[in-house]
Amino acid sequence: MLDNDGPAIDWDSMIFSYQKTDRMYISHCKQGGEWSPGVMQDFQNLSISPAAGVLNYGQGLFEGLKAQRTEDGGIVMFRPERNAKRMQSGARRLGIPVVPEEMFLNAVRQTVIENTRWIPPMGKGALYIRPLLMGSGAILGVAPAPEYTFLVYVSPVGPYFKGGLKPISLKVSDKFHRAAPGGSGGVKAIGNYAPGMVPSKDAKAQGFAEIIYLDAVHHRYVEEVGAANFFCVNDGVISTPELTGTILPGVTRASVIEIAKDMGYDVREEKVDVDYVLNADECFCAGTAAVISSIGSIQHGDKVANFGDGEVGPITRILYDELTSIQQRRIPDERGWTVSVE
Ligand SMILES: *Cc1c(COP(=O)(O)O)cnc(C)c1O
Repeated sequence: MLDNDGPAIDWDSMIFSYQKTDRMYISHCKQGGEWSPGVMQDFQNLSISPAAGVLNYGQGLFEGLKAQRTEDGGIVMFRPERNAKRMQSGARRLGIPVVPEEMFLNAVRQTVIENTRWIPPMGKGALYIRPLLMGSGAILGVAPAPEYTFLVYVSPVGPYFKGGLKPISLKVSDKFHRAAPGGSGGVKAIGNYAPGMVPSKDAKAQGFAEIIYLDAVHHRYVEEVGAANFFCVNDGVISTPELTGTILPGVTRASVIEIAKDMGYDVREEKVDVDYVLNADECFCAGTAAVISSIGSIQHGDKVANFGDGEVGPITRILYDELTSIQQRRIPDERGWTVSVE
């Protein structure tokens, strides 16, 4: 595709928002059957029964990953097989037919290829890839739907938090929890997200960028920042909440842990007490959308902790540089995490 064929987007003022693109992938499957060969089609609305399982009972999962431009004009995705596997574990939890890894990878690859004109120039953002898996067949009782749809669409995106790298202010939720033991917090179930909208909106109205959730049992251990994983640094030791089933196992989280360990840091996956966090030297959150976002302050009840005098903390900065350099192939990708799209 020629460069002058690109859409009329001001790449510099992009935020994390939906933008309709050209093409989408779609496939169907009956409960107990095989997935139909997926097809690429023009981006369009779905026709769906009002009795669809997903509309009535939230039987659905989503994924989120990015395709980015590299310096040499190539296109890369970051560890897409991890998203494929996570969607499979979510499908098992929600009684949805599993999408084979190869099918998932082909679907995201094809969707990126047929929307290449929407990929921002290097460093200006990314093409956010959104796979969706849902019970699209009609069902009245609370049970798995008789038919399923797997689709992939994309949207070009800019930074998740406004202000770019500027450290964000967060508030600990004293009233709401995101997930409970035995629930669905550990998978990207669509139903996990609507209950967080009002808490997040209220926090934003008070000037915070997002909310921090504590665990639902002790109201004491930090779990997540909205839809991103949490890290703090204390005397050079990096801590992040351990995966107990209530925390979403982020690809970015796993990558940050590995990068930091390889750099020689002491990284601990453990229960992270909110009081320990308030005394930390640095805090950041990590996710595909948020990348690594530095946290400048956290309010918890009448306590406010400030980190780093409005500057991004030194270890946060090092990890951000390393992760984004690998993701954009600005340094050798020794772990084989980036996948070329061609
Ligand atoms: C998607 C998500 C994350 C981040 O996962 P990544 O794979 O790094 O994008 C963290 N927490 C929640 C609740 C999420 O939905």
